[in-house]
Amino acid sequence: MGALLPAHGVTRLVGIGPEISAEMSELKVKSEELKAGETAEEPTLLTFNSQLLTEFYPSTEAFLAQLNPADFAHETILVKGARRFGFERIVAALQAQQHGTVLEVNLDALGHNLQHFRQQLRPGTKLMVMVKAFAYGAGSYEVASLLEFQRADYLAVAYADEGIALREAGIGLPIMVMNPAPDAFELLRRHRLEPEIYSFEILEAYLATLPATDAPTPSFTNSPIHIKLDTGMRRLGFEEADVPALGALLRQHRARLPVAGIMTHLAAADDPAHDDFTRQQLAAFGRMARALEEALGRPVLKHALNSAGIRRFPEAHFDMVRLGIGLYGVDASGLDANALRPVSTLRTTISQIKTLPAGATVGYGRRGTATDAARRIATLAIGYADGYDRRFSSGAGVVLVHGQRAPVVGSVAMDMCMVDVTDIPAARAGDVAVVFGAELPLPLLAARIGTIAYELLTNVSERVKRVFVTE
Ligand SMILES: *Cc1c(COP(=O)(O)O)cnc(C)c1O
Repeated sequence: MGALLPAHGVTRLVGIGPEISAEMSELKVKSEELKAGETAEEPTLLTFNSQLLTEFYPSTEAFLAQLNPADFAHETILVKGARRFGFERIVAALQAQQHGTVLEVNLDALGHNLQHFRQQLRPGTKLMVMVKAFAYGAGSYEVASLLEFQRADYLAVAYADEGIALREAGIGLPIMVMNPAPDAFELLRRHRLEPEIYSFEILEAYLATLPATDAPTPSFTNSPIHIKLDTGMRRLGFEEADVPALGALLRQHRARLPVAGIMTHLAAADDPAHDDFTRQQLAAFGRMARALEEALGRPVLKHALNSAGIRRFPEAHFDMVRLGIGLYGVDASGLDANALRPVSTLRTTISQIKTLPAGATVGYGRRGTATDAARRIATLAIGYADGYDRRFSSGAGVVLVHGQRAPVVGSVAMDMCMVDVTDIPAARAGDVAVVFGAELPLPLLAARIGTIAYELLTNVSERVKRVFVTE
């Protein structure tokens, strides 16, 4: 450990527990006893001594008793230990001191949800996971590396920049880019990113960036493409009438234009009221994909289903499915209420509590209207710039303080908002307020302001610190 930690850029080690304290301090003493010019029997000892700051505590309590969070700044802290040490108390203590807003992302829950959807697939069906929009707010790199470890087959992002960021962070899985701008084609190729091609214009633009001949060009590497078909979403994609011309083009250029997949997107996979329409979309997709495969003279990956579709249309999994919101713990199909675990918990802290007399108004525009009785109002360190929607103003939103609901009072401001804690006498400045999480589910909050869980998740701004936990 003494050699490995500095080699990996770790500069500080806090050891907790009687065994590590005894062993490590012994190592330290031994290395300190070595005189200049002497070589250690075990070379790790010197490295250990010179580059690594070390502290040891016999117990978690002993560490917590002396913990001054001001000792930690601009550091990445890995807290790791056996269950019995109760290290989650350390994480909680460090987080509580942050006096701000934290999005906690539970990687075990993410793994659990991934497994749940995997179990729905027939053997051999591939899994593409959507990590667009910062992995639905959860953190693209961390989610992508978990997915890589868990052997997902494909990732998908909306824009080239998102894919490039993943490559630069070392993600090696195939990545599809759904909305590639023609000026990014070279960049896409350089980063082995696979564009979705949805119109003749984009196809021509892509062809124009390829070498002129079909002969192999040694210095040129190409990325395969995905053909997007519009079967009823009316958003992006080739239509059924385009298929003959599209097939002819793909056939003509098949040597230098490898097609990895053919896909479509359903407009209402989650809604039984539209199941006839959905079945028409799936039937059209089957026809169009077959015609294109015939033109190409070989089969390619066909994929149509999002999270709700995976659960509701198991007969239409084709060769691959595209998992999104379900991975992040939101039940889009109505079939998974108990099967999925919530992944993200958004927490903030109470900055101040005021006791207001009857008749006092609260916040901008005095929109927190006067009441007949005195009340306690808590100011939270979260506002619309953090992604706490302004539509939560004036009682539409609630947060949990000490497990009890506190309604929003007045208008949500840019960096702060106020909640009524009159009925929560234990509430104190510095306490945590849960904005959403297992006890305050996203779909419930979304319904209160007429939106969907997707929007609340992806709105959590990048200035909110993400903390990744695993048990
Ligand atoms: C976002 C997206 C998905 C995933 O949808 P969920 O409802 O989040 O599962 C699938 N396919 C396409 C084309 C998408 O844009």
